Amino acid sequence: MSRLPARQVPAVYHRRFGDWLVSTVSDGYVDSPPGAMPGLTQDEVDALMVAAQGTAPIRTSVNMFALRGHGKTYLFDAGSGTTMGPSCGRLPDSLEAAGIAPGDIDAIVLTHVHPDHSNGLTSDDGKALFPRAEIIVHETEISHWFDDAAMAVATERAKTRYFASARFRLAPYKGRIRTFRDGEEVLPGITGILCAGHTPGHASYRIVGGQGGPDLMIWGDTVHIPEIQVPRPEITMLYDAEPPLAAASRKMIFETVVRDGLLVAGMHVHFPGFARMAQVDGQYRLLPEPWNYEI
Ligand SMILES: [Zn+2]
Repeated sequence: MSRLPARQVPAVYHRRFGDWLVSTVSDGYVDSPPGAMPGLTQDEVDALMVAAQGTAPIRTSVNMFALRGHGKTYLFDAGSGTTMGPSCGRLPDSLEAAGIAPGDIDAIVLTHVHPDHSNGLTSDDGKALFPRAEIIVHETEISHWFDDAAMAVATERAKTRYFASARFRLAPYKGRIRTFRDGEEVLPGITGILCAGHTPGHASYRIVGGQGGPDLMIWGDTVHIPEIQVPRPEITMLYDAEPPLAAASRKMIFETVVRDGLLVAGMHVHFPGFARMAQVDGQYRLLPEPWNYEI
């Protein structure tokens, strides 16, 4: 018998999207701890998860997306580096499997500055891992995490895990960070949409595919737990900076996606993270896209 593999194959998935190639490049997964959804009791969480998947544990994908076309390579979010344990930190392997070297990347487009999305920007000693990339991020995401007054009144956990970490990871990119406002075209055919609440400058990106196909919405952390937050968008996460605003932004993005028939790519939608949405009897449903055997 051949030797059995000890490690899963790299979680990479390619999909043609208009005249782009979009690739899911996984950073791994996280298991949600009890209490991650303060609006529900643990019994309610367990019941919803059992109804959706047969068992209670909540395992969430951590997807990044690479977009290649028009002679450019863009990366949406940068993974967690070494900071989130052995279940994460796989983005460098995934990029390599996708044929992308760090030096190939022209821009890193951040949905927000949280550990699983931005700690992979640098090594642990603070060196930039992407030698050429410009960082594109909503302006409030920078003004907030660099606001000393906001940091002073934050919880100890937020001070170290969010504020100090954001400053440390962005520091080596000083001079090549470009911020934008809601509704601005950040790159040709790519519009930034502020959907604040999870963080103050959390953004989604709408990308024109052309060729008569739907646009793509890379929606960042609009959804953390699809089984629960799609049918019940009012349910917020412990990690949301402003929970009611996060819920309102989620509903706004859902409305747009359904109204315009968009393709969704979600950082925490189960790998490979592509889906459509529908509204049935007033309730939202996520329709994961079946695996494409051809690119
Ligand atoms: Zn996240």
